[in-house]
Amino acid sequence: MRHITIFISLALFILTSSQTGCVKEEECYEHLDSKAVALTDVWNTQFIYSFDNGFTSHGGSTASETTCEDAYKVLEVFENAFTPYFDIDFIRNELNKVFIVEDLHWYNGQKIKGVSIGDGEIAIDANQPNANVYLFVLLHEFFHVIHSNHWSLDFRINWSDAMGGYHYIGYENTASATSENGYPCHEFGESGYCLGEEDLLSKGFIRDHGERSFREDFATYCEALFLMPEALEEWSLKYPIVKQKRQLCIDYLSSVGVVLK
Ligand SMILES: [Zn+2]
Repeated sequence: MRHITIFISLALFILTSSQTGCVKEEECYEHLDSKAVALTDVWNTQFIYSFDNGFTSHGGSTASETTCEDAYKVLEVFENAFTPYFDIDFIRNELNKVFIVEDLHWYNGQKIKGVSIGDGEIAIDANQPNANVYLFVLLHEFFHVIHSNHWSLDFRINWSDAMGGYHYIGYENTASATSENGYPCHEFGESGYCLGEEDLLSKGFIRDHGERSFREDFATYCEALFLMPEALEEWSLKYPIVKQKRQLCIDYLSSVGVVLK
């Protein structure tokens, strides 16, 4: 009996002290899976992070599977930083799936941090330097989801009117489309984005990404409204187009059920 006890103790000792990568990995996935299930219970959003043959979206974006640790970090940011901005029911109704991936590329080969892929689904590249970027990307892509879930021609027309006939330059013709990481500005906190440059603000843009299209323009206004509301208000006092677009953004969001906190 004593021998058996010693044997079991020894076996347990070996098991717990030999923390091989495999055991850690298994433990991590246990935590990750149960966290994902718990979050889905509350917010109804599904999290997908296992891919047998990599990830390809309907729109042709591609990515590979990320590490368990990085996927877990995204879930933590979703729970602790992203969800407090919205009512539970709003997220339940709008955001169906979050694909958590790595090495995400747009259909044209450009490396991107996130993408909105229709049907209330988004993908986020989990290989980012810090939690700020996760939050920024989750919000940005979610604004695209909201925008397409509640497409409004009136809103489009009012936004165009505020722009005074400006034509967007498209996705291929911006400086940020060709920069190494897709975003040339690195001054907004540690998020890797840059908001509020004079020359852009005077044209009515929050950051250069907004010059690409109406949907990016809208999303960048929402970013500022959520992440730097005081700065946006300040800019709106100085730049008439910013003032109009800020107000349109606020009115639109509240009309679709976003309670600005
Ligand atoms: Zn976007």
